Amino acid sequence: MSKLAMFGGVRTVTPDDATPGRIGWPVVTDAEREATLRVLDSGQFTSNNTAGEVQLLEREWADYVGTRHCSAVSNGTAAIELALAAAGIEPGGEVLVPAFTFIASAIGPVQRSLTPVFVDIDPVTFCMDPVAAEAAVTPRTRAVLVVHLHGLPADMAAFRALADRHGLLLIEDAAQSHAATYRGARTGSLGDIATFSLNVVKNLPTCGEGGLVTTDSAALHQGVELRRQFGEKLQGAKTRDYRSRMPAGNEKLSAVQAAFARAQLARLDDYHAARDRNVRAFLDRIGQLRGIRTPYVPDDRTHAWHILRLRFDPEQTGHPDLAPGALRSMLQRALRAEGVPVQPYQLVPLPGQPAFDSLQLDPADFPVTCEVIDDSLTLQRWHLNPASGPVLQRIADAFEKVWEHLDVLCAAAAGIDHRPAWRGRETAEAAR
Ligand SMILES: *Cc1c(COP(=O)(O)O)cnc(C)c1O
Repeated sequence: MSKLAMFGGVRTVTPDDATPGRIGWPVVTDAEREATLRVLDSGQFTSNNTAGEVQLLEREWADYVGTRHCSAVSNGTAAIELALAAAGIEPGGEVLVPAFTFIASAIGPVQRSLTPVFVDIDPVTFCMDPVAAEAAVTPRTRAVLVVHLHGLPADMAAFRALADRHGLLLIEDAAQSHAATYRGARTGSLGDIATFSLNVVKNLPTCGEGGLVTTDSAALHQGVELRRQFGEKLQGAKTRDYRSRMPAGNEKLSAVQAAFARAQLARLDDYHAARDRNVRAFLDRIGQLRGIRTPYVPDDRTHAWHILRLRFDPEQTGHPDLAPGALRSMLQRALRAEGVPVQPYQLVPLPGQPAFDSLQLDPADFPVTCEVIDDSLTLQRWHLNPASGPVLQRIADAFEKVWEHLDVLCAAAAGIDHRPAWRGRETAEAAR
């Protein structure tokens, strides 16, 4: 049995394994260089040109997703704000939002003076739980914002039924799920309107910030178009009329960013296929280790693999008395020492973020989210590169090595005084 790196042994994943060519993201090729230079040489930097890079990206993305319309905007958060605004939801309305997602999913509604009403998640898919969502509906609920978290589509049939029963707008936050499918249809075509991020860390990246809004509805599309540039109508117009039809801001995408994203879009399917192979080969190996729960993909969906989340179950490791958070924290130390970049993603349920203090919510009311945060770790970014297969195999080697020492690590973990980040000092003391 080889010695763990955390106890002075040789580290499994070395910088020679994790070269920029294998783990760098985004992958920048001559296609991106040519695309961005083409814009610089054209002198067409804005989205006002009716046949420019921005319009081409919009057409290509609508075709890819399978919707009639697409609007390019400045980022994924602006996309959410614009989608809500386009639907004309009056201030004070409530929007159902998962308790477990990136903060932007809830900030979008807040920016429109809407109240995010948090809903707990499903412990297997990590997406909003439709039953909990139903229970959270009130007479003020106007929309349900579903997040395809980590790249796995949420249970859209259930959410469509829920939205129809209560007359709600169904929004998909698809910032993490480019190319993922649900019953054969791509995310972004499954709700009334959908939002994507083109941020440099996402599966369809640009060279910085960007976002996309897709919909089949001409009215919602018009609403987004008007609001992304000062309430002005640009579609088809040769010259700007500078007539603001409503008070609205400026949330456009620039041509350089559109051109870069188009170059990435041309390779999205190839990258997705390579990632799917690499990730499955990795998960197949570590899924054999006792106590690891790898992501589950229901038969009717495909996963975009934006983030890989692994849950650890003390019971299955043979240490049922061990606190899940203590086990996770010990594994985190051991794996990181081996060179595996595991990390938590979201330290507290969203309702526990200081930004929502005024809502006076108790994170403990979202028990599934708390459990998942407590007992799991994520792998991010490295596996996005289509050439990451060999590094993922080295990471699997590191997991197997750590698991050879699992009983020693569990014994050590039993001595950790583990306190989840969402618990205040008083609660932690009272619980002791
Ligand atoms: C990244 C992300 C966003 C926000 O996108 P930005 O382009 O960074 O504004 C929204 N929702 C989710 C789930 C995200 O992961």
